[in-house]
Amino acid sequence: MGAGPSTSIFEKEDSITGLNFVAWFFAQTQKDPNFYPLERSTITFFNVMNFKTINQRFSYQGGNEYLCRFRDELQKLFEGEKVLRAGADHLVVISLNLSVEEIALRIKLLNKAMTSYEKGLRNQIKAGIYIADGTPQQPIVMMDRASLACREVHGIFNREYAVFDEELNKKHEQKQYVLEHFDEAFEKGFFKVYYQPIYRTLNKKVCGYEALARWIDPNRGMISPLIFIEVLEKVHLIHKLDAYIIDQVCKNLRDDIDGGYAYQPISVNLSRLDFELSDIKKVVDNAVAKYNVPKEYIVLEVTESAFASDQESLGDIIHCFREDGYQVWIDDFGSGYSSFNNLQTYDFDFLKIDMNFLRNFDKTPKSKVIIASIVDLAKKLGIHTLAEGVETEDQYEYLKSIGCELIQGYYFAKPMPIEDFYNKRAELCSFETNETPAERRYYDD
Ligand code: C2E
Ligand code: CA
Ligand code: CA
Repeated sequence: MGAGPSTSIFEKEDSITGLNFVAWFFAQTQKDPNFYPLERSTITFFNVMNFKTINQRFSYQGGNEYLCRFRDELQKLFEGEKVLRAGADHLVVISLNLSVEEIALRIKLLNKAMTSYEKGLRNQIKAGIYIADGTPQQPIVMMDRASLACREVHGIFNREYAVFDEELNKKHEQKQYVLEHFDEAFEKGFFKVYYQPIYRTLNKKVCGYEALARWIDPNRGMISPLIFIEVLEKVHLIHKLDAYIIDQVCKNLRDDIDGGYAYQPISVNLSRLDFELSDIKKVVDNAVAKYNVPKEYIVLEVTESAFASDQESLGDIIHCFREDGYQVWIDDFGSGYSSFNNLQTYDFDFLKIDMNFLRNFDKTPKSKVIIASIVDLAKKLGIHTLAEGVETEDQYEYLKSIGCELIQGYYFAKPMPIEDFYNKRAELCSFETNETPAERRYYDD
């Protein structure tokens, strides 16, 4: 993504911006301990979003000019500190006396100043900050950490910077582990399906389950989907996992039917990428046929953010699923920018209200108003509603009072492995605690 030919990053000076290269600077600090007190400094790593577009639209020369203005603004804002080039569209500031707040303010001012050079393109500049703790360290490790923090805010429009901390480091390390061990985990069967019951608000009976993936690692214990889903999406392997989950869900459903137990529809989560990387309809059809389970008992949850991808076929596939008798639910409703647009464009059976509204339940009275309006709107559109993340009696009572039909959350039950159901089958899979098909038809009408 470079701005045309420039000097090698190991040389002293970059021929485009005239700045010193970071690699050269680091080499000096290693040669001579008095060159710069790196161990007491703060490294801020800058990355221009969409720099490629500048080069494409305005040629390398336009890109180079942009980089020079970027350099000018940094030198102005960080007067007296080291401004360096790291290669490509990455500039770095190494400072000794600025607090995070002072740096954050400068990042804001930088983005403001740079808008006049954007020529109509929206090129936010993102930054990652690493604060050295006084102990000598490999300079490249310090810069990697600043760059890692920077990556944390890529694609997040309302965040300009992140500061490296232990949590971020751990997350990065976990993601690395996922990347390196996915194949092994998959082959050795470390992925398990956990089931979280879904309850009918009016009668408190179980009327469905959501299948949630877990990675039970012999070395690391349970790895959360919040860690591995993102990585698997990035490396385009998510469809492999989702196909496996779908297979397991159909298998477990068949076991319940054969065993004469109460069984309920099961939701599986689909990634936006399942639609791109696989023929997801065929994957589901095949699993359903393999275990001979009724299609009405398979629910496809599609998260709202999937619809932001402008993928034309998504709507068609969803339509096919519903035409064929499957249920399609929209997940995390209200979390994105185009929530209402999606309701207008696509048809869904259920709308799952984003959990974040409930997280603010006690903090602001506004959240109740929003939840009630979503339920009301869905009713008028003929869509059923489910609230997930219900953790308290108060929340349950409120949701019941506004007519939200289904509830899922720790207040009732946490996601559980299949073995828990087998151990407590008499209790969990009886018609005392489960809704009957007749009851479901009654409530659905
Ligand atoms: P999601 O689809 O929104 O799933 C709901 C998440 O909320 C689950 O987290 C669930 O364990 C958690 N949850 C349930 N009740 C409560 C509650 O009362 N309070 C709180 N704070 N949380 C609650 P989990 O299992 O960690 O899954 C996270 C996300 O990972 C899911 O969010 C889903 O987007 C994704 N995911 C999970 N399994 C799969 C899968 O098999 N395939 C794909 N593509 N995505 C999956
Ligand atoms: Ca879900
Ligand atoms: Ca959700």
